[in-house]
Amino acid sequence: MDNINREYIDTYIQSLIKYEDEKLEKFRQDCLERNLPIIHKEVGQFIKLVINRLEARSIIEVGTNVGYSSIFMVNAMKPGGRVVTLERSEKFYDEALKNIKSFGLEEQIQVHLGDAVENLDNIAGTFDMAFIDAAKSYYRTFFDKCCRMMKPGGMILSDNVLYQGMIATDDLVVRRKKTLVRNMRNYLEYISNDDRFITSVLPLGDGLAVTLIK
Ligand code: SAH
Ligand code: MG
Repeated sequence: MDNINREYIDTYIQSLIKYEDEKLEKFRQDCLERNLPIIHKEVGQFIKLVINRLEARSIIEVGTNVGYSSIFMVNAMKPGGRVVTLERSEKFYDEALKNIKSFGLEEQIQVHLGDAVENLDNIAGTFDMAFIDAAKSYYRTFFDKCCRMMKPGGMILSDNVLYQGMIATDDLVVRRKKTLVRNMRNYLEYISNDDRFITSVLPLGDGLAVTLIK
């Protein structure tokens, strides 16, 4: 289906994950019905694990969309946790603000409107975790900018790094995605082979890279 895992494997893994928060699950279903590119259920579960292991209190996210993952991550954090998230589409930005308000999380989630390539330089503070989930050609730029803001021992998670299987084999690459594929391959080589990082690329969802900043 998405050319990463066999469908029955994904379906089975997802069936193991039970959500207690009804409102959040309803929100997730609404997003899926609208085909919004929100985190896969099993990716969310892994993020939750990392948040808990890191005891993360602060997270920076690139790519808000309508705010699902921001709200999900704050829910997974201890009370008082905060997420700073960046979104370039005004339409999604407006909707994210609305959704965040409906969950009563305006104090915990700060959304910045504009291109993250420029806006990441204006973000103050340090973070325990970063979640990169936006324009796939710019992951290296996002990563380097987030890296400067990470606390020692922090982790950077990058979503969609296997992009429908195209990153792993030329057989699946469509012409208009060639640049994206080249950039993503370079990115994975970079985070996998630099001594400052330890990276594991997982075939979870659409591909998740997990990087520890040493
Ligand atoms: N993290 C969200 C989904 C993000 S989808 C979730 O799981 O719920 C990716 C989003 O990144 C889109 O809404 C898109 O508009 C935004 N985006 C893409 N490139 C961007 C950029 N350069 N700067 C800021 N946002 C960007
Ligand atoms: Mg994603």
